Amino acid sequence: MRVRAAARGPVAGRARVGPRTLGHAAGALGPVEEAPAPCRILTGMDERLLTERLVGYDTSHRDGLRAAGGFVKGWLESHGIDVREHDHDGLPVLRSTIGSSQEDAPTVILHGHLDVVPAHAPQFEPILDGDRLIGRGTYDMKGGLASMLCAVRDCAPRAAGAGVRVELVVVPDEESERVDSRSTDALVKEGRISGDFAITGEPTQLHVGVQAKGVLAVRAAVHGTSAHGSTPWLGDNAVLKAFDAFRRIESLPFSRESSELYDRPSINLSRMRGGEAFNMVPDRCEVTIDIRYVPGQDAQEILRQIGAIEDLEVLRVLERGPAIVSQRNPFVVALRDAVGRTGEGAGLAVGRDGASDAIAFLDAGIPAVEFGPSGSGHHGPDEWVSVSSLARYRRALVDFVLSVPAAVATDPGTSDPVPEGHA
Ligand SMILES: [Zn+2]
Repeated sequence: MRVRAAARGPVAGRARVGPRTLGHAAGALGPVEEAPAPCRILTGMDERLLTERLVGYDTSHRDGLRAAGGFVKGWLESHGIDVREHDHDGLPVLRSTIGSSQEDAPTVILHGHLDVVPAHAPQFEPILDGDRLIGRGTYDMKGGLASMLCAVRDCAPRAAGAGVRVELVVVPDEESERVDSRSTDALVKEGRISGDFAITGEPTQLHVGVQAKGVLAVRAAVHGTSAHGSTPWLGDNAVLKAFDAFRRIESLPFSRESSELYDRPSINLSRMRGGEAFNMVPDRCEVTIDIRYVPGQDAQEILRQIGAIEDLEVLRVLERGPAIVSQRNPFVVALRDAVGRTGEGAGLAVGRDGASDAIAFLDAGIPAVEFGPSGSGHHGPDEWVSVSSLARYRRALVDFVLSVPAAVATDPGTSDPVPEGHA
């Protein structure tokens, strides 16, 4: 076991863990005797060890994704779980089915992604710091995925007897910028995967994400008048006007609306291009505004308000509606109950700021929520996941899956109203 790389300086109390140190008692510095035990023996620890293994693959690249996909497939098969693998755009998509083969058995989809956003090499060597496992993808979402895999393994011998079926789906492209060609959308559209309820393991601090904001990406041009750079007062600077236009968008009426789980929509100036030469006043500036609107808002009305801004011409719009799942949905109630049984401070119904693959299921009429472990810093340099939350997450998933038949047998209309929480 080694301390953090010298370039960053040794950090007291932190131990680098990774594929090479599997089987070690972690958390202490100094030499630890070799104990090459296979994952299956370390039942209390294996979601953490499995997370470390997954983090060790740089899955921001295609080669890393293929290698990690092969590892996950082998891991599942070594635990007696059959895997169907298919290729999507050159990358592996893995699916497994466990539990009841009765056609009318309730079916839960557990969905996770193996890909991560790019990071520097040291982030692919996980570091354990107390309850924190630090590394790229620990939080988004290899920790959740590892717990999910362990939960599927835990459920495998019991799900058929309980009368429930689980469809596990592991995809390689949730973080992909190619939003039109993601494998989850394709799987659902082609009918390759179906179920009664889907959980995607995005990190949620062990709360249940029943809503997600809609996405409205607007590309627009702002027009000005060019002039020589030495006499800017003779022109009308389109770049400066674009800033003004953005400020006006930020203060439009739609920006102040709220909903049950959200205080406000979010509005981000994500891209700006303008100017031809250093000695010219720019006469055109293109901007992209990333608006995440709240359930209940109308995207067309938002566009109407934006379109009324002078000198701003909307060029292209990409829209994806908000995600909403009823908090009375019996699967949601059962999931929140299962989380609640793992301890305090978790299982609230929350609204999520970002979009996720959950929307692919919702578009197909399958209620879907985000539910994942605790941590912080996803997509950042200090991403970490709480190791204890991984264990809770796994327990909650197993408990939930096995409780589903009883939950759906009761009339959802008679469920008690559930308390609501805010993100
Ligand atoms: Zn994610």
